[in-house]
Amino acid sequence: MAIATVNPATGETLKTFDALNAGEIEDCLVRAERAFQEHRLTSFAHRAERMLKAADLLDADQDSVARTMTTEMGKPLAQARAEAAKCAKTMRWYATHAEELLADEHPDPADVHDSGAARAVVRYRPLGTVLAVMPWNFPLWQVVRFAAPALMAGNTGLLKHASNVPQTALYLAELFRRAGFAEGCFQTLLIGSGAVEDLLRDPRVAAATLTGSEPAGRSVAAIAGDEVKKTVLELGGSDPYLVMPSADLDKAVRTAVTARVQNNGQSCIAAKRFIVHTDVYDTFAARFTERMAGLTVGDPMEEHTDVGPLSSEQGRSDLEELVDDAVHRGATALCGGRRPPEHRAGWYYEPTVLSGITPGMRIHQEEAFGPVATLYRVEDLDEAIALANDSPFGLGSNAWTRDADEQGRLARDLQAGGVFFNGMTASHPGLPFGGAKRSGYGRELSGHGMREFCNMTTVWYGPED
Ligand code: NAP
Repeated sequence: MAIATVNPATGETLKTFDALNAGEIEDCLVRAERAFQEHRLTSFAHRAERMLKAADLLDADQDSVARTMTTEMGKPLAQARAEAAKCAKTMRWYATHAEELLADEHPDPADVHDSGAARAVVRYRPLGTVLAVMPWNFPLWQVVRFAAPALMAGNTGLLKHASNVPQTALYLAELFRRAGFAEGCFQTLLIGSGAVEDLLRDPRVAAATLTGSEPAGRSVAAIAGDEVKKTVLELGGSDPYLVMPSADLDKAVRTAVTARVQNNGQSCIAAKRFIVHTDVYDTFAARFTERMAGLTVGDPMEEHTDVGPLSSEQGRSDLEELVDDAVHRGATALCGGRRPPEHRAGWYYEPTVLSGITPGMRIHQEEAFGPVATLYRVEDLDEAIALANDSPFGLGSNAWTRDADEQGRLARDLQAGGVFFNGMTASHPGLPFGGAKRSGYGRELSGHGMREFCNMTTVWYGPED
């Protein structure tokens, strides 16, 4: 794939970039290794000062970097600004909490005495240079939620960003440099995915984190496995959104729309499968469809736009194929199901609600990465849970119920990395984020995410006399 900024609202190629050659990649590796040997010895206070500066710079750049993101991948501008603000907040969170999250642990001497230890300490030391292979859909956030904890832990980072967001990728490296992180601490490598294998096999790269599709995750994990290197994988999702009779239906409908179309429907944790109890199904379906059909689709730079274009022509065709397959096999499009006729240029697709989904349809098992919702009617909680779990993915999940017993069952039985009641799935720096099943493994955010790229070291002290 060419490394280029192509505006999805117009299809126009605005800027192209040459991929780094082998010599330039080698220079990056040398710089990363050198930087790691110094950065790992710096204090938390030193790192925090720079991370806080990065947050301030990002706040000051908020509008311009938001425009860059919107130009490169088409998210509505207000959402791009909110993404930048969330990144700054996360940088501040890690700057403030890292020292406490990675504090030495001191097992009770009485518990380890029979190992012969006078005492023992568990220390969290950085692993080294971590390769981050990242997607375009949240081009700042996906990177910052890796970079902030990794840098605060004393690691160094190499970013291979998606090929369609090169300007955002370059901005990120420049941001950390301007904030005072030493040369080599965080570098953007403009490279294609074909260059990832050699990098990952290089002994100077200690580990990798990948956010993206299942095929990309499988490929990187296989190479890392061969090299016995740690990986964290954040892959696709097809989150269920359960609505039970005790739900506040107004809120459930309003939130359902946001949960489905946020980021033009291209979010791994978007609610994609709406599983509704029969007692409230007809009301939910009617109100949800009305709101989806009423969304404003258009230029993502316009403040009143709800849904912009998909990020690529290929992304739109993939989505169209899923919808066409479902309709061909008997699903009904309650709204949408086509390209908006008023937008001839750009990769737009109408917000779509499909009912009558059956297991033989591709969309029942595959991820719809765009503003397309599927509706299911269920008779009871057991059927709702079985349907929610009938997916290869297990990232987030949402359930609308005010019944404590139902909440207990759902929190126990939904196969997912997160269960969100009476709200939509969202990430927060203080909460672990990640998936089960084919949505990946490992966690990002919170102390758990930060420790993924630490060497948890047991330090054992024998008796001194
Ligand atoms: P993608 O095609 O897998 O691309 C993601 C990144 O992986 C890009 O940098 C891409 O580089 C690279 N890549 C692709 N194939 C590769 C390979 N064989 N070896 C090494 N690197 C490879 O994914 P996408 O279509 O951009 O992103 C959408 C997917 O990401 C969706 O499935 C979505 O659910 C998932 N996602 C998951 C999360 C999460 O937290 N779980 C968050 C956001 C998105 P190029 O651009 O150069 O191809």
